[in-house]
Amino acid sequence: MKYFFVYILFFNLLLYSQPKEKIDSIAYYSSLSNTNIKDNNYKDALFHTRKAILYAEKNKNIQDQASQHFTLGKLYYDLKKYDDAIESLLKSSNLYATLKPSSNQANIYYYIGLCYMAEHDFENAALHFDKAKSIYTKLKIPDIAELLTLQEGLMYKSQNKLDLALSVFKTIIAKPDHPILADTKAEALYQMGSLEALKNRNNLALSYLNKALDLNSKTENLEQKSNILLALSTLHEKTLDKNNAYSYLKQHLNLKERIEILNDKRLDIDDYTKFRESERLKEIIQADNKNKELQKASRFSKLISILAIALISILSLLSLSLYKNNIIRNQSNLLLQEKNKELEIAKNKAEKASKARAEFLSTVSHELRTPLNAINGITHLLLQENPRETQMDYLTSLKFSGDYLTKFINEILEINKIESHKVQIEHSSFNLKKLLKNIQNSLKELALVNDNRFIFEIDPAIPDYLNGDITKLSQIILNLINNALKFTKSGVVTVIAKLDSKTDKKATIHFEITDTGIGIPEDKLHSVFDSFSQGSIEVNRKYGGTGLGLTIVKKLTKILGGQIKLKSTVGKGSTFSFHLLFEISTQPSRIEIKPKTDDQAKLLNKKILLVEDNKINQMISKKMLERKGITCITIDCGEEAIEAARNNKFDLILMDVHLPGMNGTVATQEIRLFDTVTPIIALTAISLDENRDMLLSFGMNDVITKPFIPEEFYTVIAEYI
Ligand code: ADP
Repeated sequence: MKYFFVYILFFNLLLYSQPKEKIDSIAYYSSLSNTNIKDNNYKDALFHTRKAILYAEKNKNIQDQASQHFTLGKLYYDLKKYDDAIESLLKSSNLYATLKPSSNQANIYYYIGLCYMAEHDFENAALHFDKAKSIYTKLKIPDIAELLTLQEGLMYKSQNKLDLALSVFKTIIAKPDHPILADTKAEALYQMGSLEALKNRNNLALSYLNKALDLNSKTENLEQKSNILLALSTLHEKTLDKNNAYSYLKQHLNLKERIEILNDKRLDIDDYTKFRESERLKEIIQADNKNKELQKASRFSKLISILAIALISILSLLSLSLYKNNIIRNQSNLLLQEKNKELEIAKNKAEKASKARAEFLSTVSHELRTPLNAINGITHLLLQENPRETQMDYLTSLKFSGDYLTKFINEILEINKIESHKVQIEHSSFNLKKLLKNIQNSLKELALVNDNRFIFEIDPAIPDYLNGDITKLSQIILNLINNALKFTKSGVVTVIAKLDSKTDKKATIHFEITDTGIGIPEDKLHSVFDSFSQGSIEVNRKYGGTGLGLTIVKKLTKILGGQIKLKSTVGKGSTFSFHLLFEISTQPSRIEIKPKTDDQAKLLNKKILLVEDNKINQMISKKMLERKGITCITIDCGEEAIEAARNNKFDLILMDVHLPGMNGTVATQEIRLFDTVTPIIALTAISLDENRDMLLSFGMNDVITKPFIPEEFYTVIAEYI
């Protein structure tokens, strides 16, 4: 048993030693305050209630703040400090207003009403009692209603409406007895007694007052008792019952003294003043803090407003400029779209026009070739038939004109092809050093015409085999050398090929063609590359030419990935140069310009099949072949040519490409099915859509373009026979 108590004690210690302040502080302080009220120690009660309020404020607990202000209000009321009480009670009421309606709210109004009653402000009192009443009825707490009825009666009495007051008090005393109602009923009886005494209905008054005293004994309301005793004494004095009058008066005085002692014990007036002052100070500090916070908040909100306004302004400006931008963009978009359409239409027109021009040129040059071939061929034949002296001059002029026209037509066709992007880069392995040697050999005679020294400087470091477009490269170099030899008299023409740089797979070669000829004026250095542009009319008269050679050179160099450069001084000479990049090849060369051989012996007694539909060309070619002792069989369509090739053995076949019915290319393809050995050479007045590679792909060995230059014609045939 002993241990059990020790255990309980220990448990309790443990329980209360916990730091429970946070949860229990309010309850703790308010319980302390209640104890103090009971002990009539209002000084401490006030102190603890204030502590509770501070704590509730710190924790922002509205419910606790409201209830503690109520307690404080009641304390002030008990101390008869009605103004202070009203102030606290209103605070409490305002706090309760933010919470759910409760009986406390009504109680507060009741107390406020009491305060106003005490101050004889009946209007405000009635107002607050009404408020309390409406909440009590709403919450269905009828018992409290008697308290209010009592106050109603008291109000009538104060306003000297004695009969009304009497009837109100009567309703209260008619209620059945109940401990809760004891105090109220006693008060009503006392009030009735006093009123009846006023009306000199002394017996009735005495009866009410006695009943009141009786009922009061069940309460601890000393003030009420003192009032009743005084009223009884006065009444007895009136009825001349001196003994009772004296006895009640004495009781009354004793009681009053006791009450005063009690009240004095409640609170020293200085203490109260001190408390109120500190309370005011606290309020002022709180208000000041609140003010500061408000100022801070207002400053902050001002700042926020300024920032927001700035932000909104920026955003507005931004969206305005975006909007304007958008409009401008849309407008310029529309404008651009229109311009685009116009440009597209113009481009289509230009493309159509350029295509039409290209086709026109192609057709014209093609149509000119066939008759030109006849002119050239017949001139050649006539020149060989021992013409008379006078005829010789005419024929030489005719040959010159024919050659010129041929060159011109070929160059026009070449440019036309390049500009229509019909030119393809062909790739084949070749020996550059050999190619240049061959060119040197073939142009030796031309160099002699103008008494020029013709020098080739070929870098031995250049790899043996390169991969590239040998046809175009030859065309470029031949053109430049031809010009150099043409525009130089008794001078030097030097052709240089130098290895510029080399990697494992690629080599860059520098080409340079220099002469010591007439040179080109500075203002013409650029225009000489334009179509039909020549140095001057005098130059043209003296040297001839078409003005297309350099145009072709420039375009071909560009196609091969290079850029032609020209340096020239009038009277001193010119230098044309360019770089080209080649892949290094390991294969031996396939096509090369062959050195001149003795064709005559090779061609003798050979048998050639000539497939040609144009009778004049047939006659010319046949004659030219027969001149070299060749037997020539002529056939004018592809189908028959296949048969002839199948049934006979020819040393070579010359195949015109454009044949009626079966095309020369298709016929070649057919022949190649049974004969892969006999050389077949294409004869063509090359058009826009034909090129060497395309023709070779059908199985042809080489191509001779019409109108052909007789020497070339024999050379190619001799090469394959
Ligand atoms: P053409 O057929 O007239 O030679 P080109 O296009 O080849 O046409 O040359 C255009 C012009 O450039 C020539 O007429 C000539 O005046 C000038 N020209 C070209 N090469 C040389 C050169 N090596 N020396 C002097 N002038 C040249």
